[in-house]
Amino acid sequence: MKVLKFGGTSVQSAEMMKHVGEIVKNARIEGQVAVVVSAMSGITDKLIQVSSLASQGDESYLKFLQEIEKKHLQCIQELLPPQNQTRAVAAVMMMLNELKDVLQGLFLLKEMSLKSRDFVMSFGERLSSLIISEYFKTLGMEALLVDARELIVTDNNFGNATVNFEETDKRIRKYFSRTDKLIVMGGFIASTLQNETTTLGRGGSDYTASIVAAGIQAKSLEIWTDVDGMMTADPRKVRKTMVLKQVSYIEALELSHFGAKVLYPPSVQPVLSKNIPLKIKNTFNPAAEGTVVARESVDNGSPIKGISSIETVALISLNGSGMVGVSGFAKRLFSALANGRINVILITQASSEHSISVAINMQDAVQAKALLEKEFEIERKNGLIDPIIVEQQMSILAIVGENMRNTPNVAGKLFSALGRNGVNVRAIAQGSSENNISFVTQAVDCRKALNIVHEAFFLSDTKVLNAFLIGVGTVGGTLLRQMREQQEYFLNEYNVEIRVVGIANSRKMWFDENGIHLPDWKNLLDNNGEPMSLGEFSSKMHDLNLRNSILVDCTASEELVDLYEEALQRGISVVTPNKVACSGRYELYRRLKQTATQRGAKFLFETNVGAGLPVIKTLNDLTQSGDKILKIEAILSGTLNFLFNEHKAGVSFSSVVKKAQELGYSEPDPRIDMNGLDVARKILILSRESGSILESKDVVSENFLPEECQKANSIADFFKVLPNYDEHFENIRANVEKAGKRQRYIAVYEKGKLHTGLREVGPDSPFFQVEGNDNLVLFWTERYKVRPLIVKGAGAGAEVTAAGIFADIIRIANF
Ligand code: ADP
Ligand code: ASP
Ligand code: MG
Repeated sequence: MKVLKFGGTSVQSAEMMKHVGEIVKNARIEGQVAVVVSAMSGITDKLIQVSSLASQGDESYLKFLQEIEKKHLQCIQELLPPQNQTRAVAAVMMMLNELKDVLQGLFLLKEMSLKSRDFVMSFGERLSSLIISEYFKTLGMEALLVDARELIVTDNNFGNATVNFEETDKRIRKYFSRTDKLIVMGGFIASTLQNETTTLGRGGSDYTASIVAAGIQAKSLEIWTDVDGMMTADPRKVRKTMVLKQVSYIEALELSHFGAKVLYPPSVQPVLSKNIPLKIKNTFNPAAEGTVVARESVDNGSPIKGISSIETVALISLNGSGMVGVSGFAKRLFSALANGRINVILITQASSEHSISVAINMQDAVQAKALLEKEFEIERKNGLIDPIIVEQQMSILAIVGENMRNTPNVAGKLFSALGRNGVNVRAIAQGSSENNISFVTQAVDCRKALNIVHEAFFLSDTKVLNAFLIGVGTVGGTLLRQMREQQEYFLNEYNVEIRVVGIANSRKMWFDENGIHLPDWKNLLDNNGEPMSLGEFSSKMHDLNLRNSILVDCTASEELVDLYEEALQRGISVVTPNKVACSGRYELYRRLKQTATQRGAKFLFETNVGAGLPVIKTLNDLTQSGDKILKIEAILSGTLNFLFNEHKAGVSFSSVVKKAQELGYSEPDPRIDMNGLDVARKILILSRESGSILESKDVVSENFLPEECQKANSIADFFKVLPNYDEHFENIRANVEKAGKRQRYIAVYEKGKLHTGLREVGPDSPFFQVEGNDNLVLFWTERYKVRPLIVKGAGAGAEVTAAGIFADIIRIANF
């Protein structure tokens, strides 16, 4: 004998019921079958709605009642052959009339007890079981419809009644022993010994099926639903979930207790007690193997089986020094809650005994607080305990698996994954059986935390990076192109999935949580984008609350820097070629770095110096391995180097400057490069990364640009006056060349001092041979005292800068 239970979506329409018919027919070939069905999907909710509207004297309940009627009648029409419809329609109409009468009564009396609500809800399963049993008959199966209320006996705790197993088992055994027909019944509903209708709690049809299976010692229980089985997490909330082949009863219980809706938690106990295997199968995809729930768990290659969550709970905390060493506090707390029939989902107590926290359903929070305030009134007055704290909008998450017991560092992996992504954990509980670790976070972080943990335990091979890019000009645009070109490579070679979730320019912003289709980014931004506002961009990024989020600032704007700190605070990494933050006030630089460290986020700005060259990385590697920086000498401006390399006899200096601008080597206003400010910023950043506390005013800069050029009102004016000085520059150049030397703009950091300026270097200098727009950095350190460590290469241009930003982004994947 087998028991098959079909959930609401499995009987949501005539079409689905036909699938059910197939499945049941096949099962019948093997032997005796009992079928338990839920109400058609959505009907229980509607019944609750009509009963509350009616009891509030709101006539609109009639409209919803009509919808209920229509859904069932339409189903009959589509499902049954015409000759069988009359009887079914008559039976359904009789039930619906009864329902109408009840609702009319509620409407007139403006009364709504849990008892009457249970009665109204019972119609859902009564109707669906009636229709499907009629359908089975048309398939040639001898179906016997039984009213579950005649078999399942409970107490009178309406809404969530407790089963009287002795009486229930007796009735089930007796009933089943009399027939070998196909038995069909509604789940969820039951009755008291006095024949009052009760229900077993939302989702309770699973329980009915399990009770029946245990009562008749069935060979197996099959729960047919709308997913391929029990999964590593709720597929509606987590990407890339996997079906579990086999879990133990205990694991299934823990996962469902903490929110895996696929199985109603009380359903485990009856089958467990009789050692009846339970299978979870997909009505939409019967070929899928499904999940077996049995005594033994089967290794799935991970220390955990899954993660589940209850999205909205309240956390109530009792704190106070008066609790330490005094027995009975916990008992009184739980008794008070139990007396109010408040279900405690999770308990934690600090080992100092100074605080106990319990998680409960949010709707119980107000009552729970009142009960506890009353219970501990005297202690409160005497100052032995603090006011009771209630935190709403919290979530409980739990990782579950019997294998956890044998695997060290599961908790470490769990909490470090959460910590790295800025998810704050408010309370933690681990069952002494070590089958689960549960923890409480704010509800806004629930989905993110689920995904982080799921990724850490099941997809540790694939890491998703979620980038938010502001600035899609030359560098930003190139970065997007490089990302598009490399996306597949990183996924295949390194299991890193790069998603660009948000992009913005100064006018528009565009988001796509699943990753913007990169070949179309321009189109999407221009045509679909909303008006850009930094505040809203930032809010959207925080609201999306995605794991491994990265803010990429490809602008030169000062305003954006304000966004960095908030992002880092929330565990969002920041990557930028924008030098403003690191070369601004030292205090800001320090705070950003410190916040990043504290929050487990990264603040990466390799491209602040030397574009894509690993200048900062090399410096960091040296200092982190205990070396000491003695001196840095460098050509840090690819632009200036280009100018002095290209300026030759017969080529005017002004034309070289123009060319640099046109090639995008210089800033749009080349003076920013030529006045040494850009170099000053870079050497300042290197000094800070070497450990010096210096400000921009500490950089001694020599300016080679004549005053008139500096003062020109616009870029255009600058280019007008610059040719006046072509001769001046040519004279210098010719003299330097005659002396066998070259002009180089060099920055020096030594003994806490910063200096930049134009130098004439001879062939014996390493700076002599620096070609094109290359950069060259010499690190003189304790270890590299005799000959410096040299980093050399292209130090300007969109391609190399974008590549450097890309490398920083990728570094975030390699924790
Ligand atoms: P039914 O109506 O068949 O009883 P439910 O809606 O009660 O179906 O339960 C099935 C749903 O449970 C799935 O659609 C899925 O979204 C959700 N669910 C939550 N956690 C899990 C999990 N760990 N594995 C599978 N499904 C889950
Ligand atoms: N129909 C009931 C509900 O929606 C019971 C069930 O579907 O399991 O809660
Ligand atoms: Mg269910």
